[in-house]
Amino acid sequence: RIPVICIDGPTASGKGTLAAEVAQRLGYHLLDSGALYRLVGLAAGKAGLSTAEDDLRQPDQAQRLGTLAAGLQVRFDGPRIWLDSVEVSDALRSEVAGMAASRVSAVPEVRAALLTLQHGFRRLPGLVADGRDMGTVIFPDAPLKVYLTASAEQRAQRRYKQLISKGIAANIDSLLADLEKRDHRDSSRAHAPLKPAEDALQLDNSGLDVEQSVQQVLNWWQG
Ligand code: C5P
Repeated sequence: RIPVICIDGPTASGKGTLAAEVAQRLGYHLLDSGALYRLVGLAAGKAGLSTAEDDLRQPDQAQRLGTLAAGLQVRFDGPRIWLDSVEVSDALRSEVAGMAASRVSAVPEVRAALLTLQHGFRRLPGLVADGRDMGTVIFPDAPLKVYLTASAEQRAQRRYKQLISKGIAANIDSLLADLEKRDHRDSSRAHAPLKPAEDALQLDNSGLDVEQSVQQVLNWWQG
């Protein structure tokens, strides 16, 4: 089997940074699965489909969103992402896109539609996949599953610094509130909820810098 390292965990736990760094050191491919859910939210907006929670509970609306997800026209090139030939890398990173992603990701039809797309990232020499259900649902046979955590305050603080450094106005209290709302929705949904795989190794990076976290994962991998 082609090797896969899964890195799952809550919003803003540092999964993306850690996964990208580990992938680069090993020369592996990278799957940022959150970007796929963000893309579905964005594509829905473009297609005039509502992603309001009440609307998504309607079966025909869920069906339409699933069809849209199955037909996504996306292209990845490292950290750059295109939807229908338009670059959306920056638009995808916004908090609004993250919240929309969290709503559409609770729709089973959407999760099912993205399954094959995600399996397609498993190519030689190997893959590092980050998300919420990489180890539990998408790659259950992965030889290394990491569940990354940090306190909500730490995560809000990091997100705040990230936005400010990009010149984007941010408020720490509303970031923390958004984050907790997303965590709650992600872990309480019926379908593929956020939780550590039974065989996942837990890594709390609250007191670690990126390099220390990378070393821990590489030690587990080579161990
Ligand atoms: O990781 P990121 O913040 O980009 O993910 C955006 C949203 O997509 C998450 O809040 C979560 O609801 C959803 N998601 C998911 N399953 C994944 C990755 C992301 O449900 N594997």
